[in-house]
Amino acid sequence: MSAETQYNHVESILLKNIDDPTALFVFPTDIAVSHWVDQLLTLRGGGTVAMDQFTAWDTFKQESIRAQKQDKKSVPAVLRKIFVSRLIQENSELYRAGGAPLFTFLIPPEYAYAGASFVSWFTRILPQLGSWFEKTSGVPVALINEKNGLLAGEGLEGDDRDLYTLALRYQQFLDAHGLFEPAWEKPPFEDTGKKCFIFFPESLMDYSEYAELLENTGHVTPVRVSAGSTYAGVVDKPYNTFFYTNSRREISEAALYIRGLHEKQGVPFESIVVSIPDTENYEPYVLREFTNRNIPFVRRAGKPLASYAAGQLFATLSDCASRDFPFDAIAGLLLNRHLPWKDNEVINQLINFGIRNNCITSWKEADDKGTGQTEIHVWEDAFKSPMGNREERARLFYESLKGSVEKLCSAVSFADLRNRYFVFREKFLNMDECLPETDLILSRCVSELLSLIEIEKSFPDIIIPDPYTFFVEYLQEKNYLPQQYSAGVTILPYRTAAPVPFGCHIILGSTQDNLSTVFSRLGFLSRAKREELGLKDDDASEAFINLHKLNSSLPAVFFCAQETFAGYAIPHSRLNVTEKPRMRYGEGSSDQTDTPAGIFEADLFDAEREFYLALQTAASPAFPHSIHQGQSCGFNAWAERRSQDGTVDEKRWKADQALLDLIGERYCYSEEFPGKFSVSASSLEPYYNCALVWLFQRVLNLENIRIETSLMAENIMGSVYHAILNCFFEAVKKDGSILSRLQNGFLPHDYSTLLTKCIQTIFDGLPALLPRKKPEMSALTVRLIRAGKKSVGENLERLLTAFLSFFSGYRIIGSETSWKSDKGSYYLNGTVDCMLEAPLKNTETRGTVIVDFKLFYMPDRNACTAKEDDGLTNFQLPLYMTLAEDKGGKPVDTALFFSIVKAAPQVLFGVIENSETGDSLPKAEGRILRTGAAEDQFRLIMDEFREKADRYAAEISTGNFSTFSNSFRKCVGCSYQPVCRTSYAVDRESNLLKWSAAGG
Ligand code: SF4
Repeated sequence: MSAETQYNHVESILLKNIDDPTALFVFPTDIAVSHWVDQLLTLRGGGTVAMDQFTAWDTFKQESIRAQKQDKKSVPAVLRKIFVSRLIQENSELYRAGGAPLFTFLIPPEYAYAGASFVSWFTRILPQLGSWFEKTSGVPVALINEKNGLLAGEGLEGDDRDLYTLALRYQQFLDAHGLFEPAWEKPPFEDTGKKCFIFFPESLMDYSEYAELLENTGHVTPVRVSAGSTYAGVVDKPYNTFFYTNSRREISEAALYIRGLHEKQGVPFESIVVSIPDTENYEPYVLREFTNRNIPFVRRAGKPLASYAAGQLFATLSDCASRDFPFDAIAGLLLNRHLPWKDNEVINQLINFGIRNNCITSWKEADDKGTGQTEIHVWEDAFKSPMGNREERARLFYESLKGSVEKLCSAVSFADLRNRYFVFREKFLNMDECLPETDLILSRCVSELLSLIEIEKSFPDIIIPDPYTFFVEYLQEKNYLPQQYSAGVTILPYRTAAPVPFGCHIILGSTQDNLSTVFSRLGFLSRAKREELGLKDDDASEAFINLHKLNSSLPAVFFCAQETFAGYAIPHSRLNVTEKPRMRYGEGSSDQTDTPAGIFEADLFDAEREFYLALQTAASPAFPHSIHQGQSCGFNAWAERRSQDGTVDEKRWKADQALLDLIGERYCYSEEFPGKFSVSASSLEPYYNCALVWLFQRVLNLENIRIETSLMAENIMGSVYHAILNCFFEAVKKDGSILSRLQNGFLPHDYSTLLTKCIQTIFDGLPALLPRKKPEMSALTVRLIRAGKKSVGENLERLLTAFLSFFSGYRIIGSETSWKSDKGSYYLNGTVDCMLEAPLKNTETRGTVIVDFKLFYMPDRNACTAKEDDGLTNFQLPLYMTLAEDKGGKPVDTALFFSIVKAAPQVLFGVIENSETGDSLPKAEGRILRTGAAEDQFRLIMDEFREKADRYAAEISTGNFSTFSNSFRKCVGCSYQPVCRTSYAVDRESNLLKWSAAGG
């Protein structure tokens, strides 16, 4: 039998029997029913059909059971979960009270207190327990609460005993409330004389349980598609497979294939179905690709309410309350822009306050006596001693929010929860300004809550242990699909799409894992136990593949890739893919051999790229005959920007008057030097890396806002060390004596004492670092710094020991000295950490030494000595030396960095000697001396510094910037890349070069 005949055979069953009122067509799902009805109407050229002749498998079973259990109600799915929640709570309470818990194997006693995590699993296995009991005990589950059932239960041990307890308690619960579990009932399937056609039974997980019963009635015809069945011709039905090297390429070509079907073969988008087995990883990319390539689509699978942005409200509220309002939970709640918050201004204040004050999370710490624990509520703690403004409005908002959230999350019933939710909503949300989607989702959540209230009312004796948590979990399981108003390619789950007729079935991610469909009855039991009960897995993988082939008018298409988002994969074995993976099959493929590229539509993004490439060599290459809407929008936006910018000079870029005014505000502020620009090392460095970086960072103060906070600001620890060192050096400087020698390799006792005193002084002054100055750190940072006091002391002791080994005999002549030096149109501005005067006897290191302390890492030596392509880009030491000479009146011979944590120097100019070991730093070949053989290098560096400082001042005062990054590597690593238009040009250039080098 040919494939064509096979497909027609399914149709012919419908056509032949539709006019027989006793015929009943049973399809696996409702969606299959509706599409097969449409298909039938199309085949008949219109008219009507009796819908009661079509039904879905689940409905077919339910109706049969309902006929038998007329005195009882089927248990609502949610009541299963309520039952389990209560039972697990009972188990926990028994355990806490020291009694025998209900479960000892399924929930080990050590986890009894955390039983809530077992709720979902227990709920899932409840429907299967009827079948388990019958197979294990040989007694019908209807008798589980009768003498025979109870006797059978007594003989069970281990896991079986716990499963029996669960099943028995469930039966008792059902009996007490006049309910029955439909999954425990065997539909009688009484022969009503109807001619039943059950289509595609291989795709039904439980069909095998009823197969014998049904097929013996003589009125049931199963219509199978698997090999060996009556209609097995489908196995030979042609289909296409495309195997790619990676999933990104696979998705792009699948989109081109769909466009090809539509453009070249006239297949309407609406008659194409796309299945994505690995939805989580694939779907976002697939949808983006479809959007980029103008493929209309409609998703036909719902997703949990809690996964919609607005639906996350309830889970984030619970997260806040259960974790005592940590920063990430509060940010997740308040920065959810799908929620119509009433007062966004106060929200921003609160978030900024949280970032500034490091409100990461609350914690417990040992009290002063060490006998108990004190809870530190991080926000309250921060509001008590804030860093920066007190933010009174933010505090009041936080307190009100916290109170309302705690109240909401502690609702005692679903009805109470609804009331509290409306109070919360009224207080914090402005529903008049709600996005339609948000309104829809929140309304849907409330209607789910109403259905829970109905259950609560119908069963008033059933008290739910924690209604809010229950509701949040319920929303995570409740699928919802908003009404779809668009039309286009249908996106359906793989198994759902299989029995549905479409013009073309396209399956993405057809890997061995994704297409494996194994039905495991009583899958919650161990393999050994299942084997004992004679249960085998049913592999329905082939049946599903065949269904896709069968129900596709055009050959079904299976796409897959070797490198997927989840790792390496192989195509499903039933697809018989023997070829190697390719980069492309479509037009322009260099490795295309036997597959006609004509199936795929041309890639218009490639066409655009090729056009730009051709622009490099040809005067006027042909523009692509068509481009996608997104490409056209992008081009127009770019063209508009170009026309606004006027002539673009790649080398120079001129600031307009508004920017010049802003630069003036930032850099001409000194009363001592009115109208002159301040030039500091911290501005020179970004400027000579790229003027745009300087502009973004120093002038516009653009920050890459990350809505997160950390334990402490990055530079705060460095400031604490600097403050202690300043305190120490000031004290040593005061009495004018020279620095002492080490005593047996250790810090002299009086220095140790002085250091301890300085540490104490600075720590006592926290959160401020200078007496009577404003706080410079948050309450949490203060606690953390205080906790690290011992290591601060140890680091400084080590540092000063190393410091003295080089500088004992020197005299401190300056500590944290701030200077400004007039240079005509500008002034140099900087603070020198430490200045020392060398002892007279020292012949090599005459004059003055400058030391700049770094917390850990040293600056790149090449950047400080003009050894890189960009020349001098770290200006600190040349600038400090100039200031010390101009203002301190002493020539500086030696300048170095000293790492506090590493307790090691990095000498750039001059040389220093370790008096303990006699070693000199740097070694002879690395020295840059003010006088002597290397003088030229010293002079060149200082000349470059002066030239660059002059140029910088001239350029920022006129707005004629000349230094821009021309390094692709630098731009890629630049944090301003997302806002810097220049980076796109660099990026494109580089890509084009790579492309042409590869001969693409
Ligand atoms: S992306 Fe490149 S050009 Fe733009 S600011 Fe950064 S370094 Fe400069």
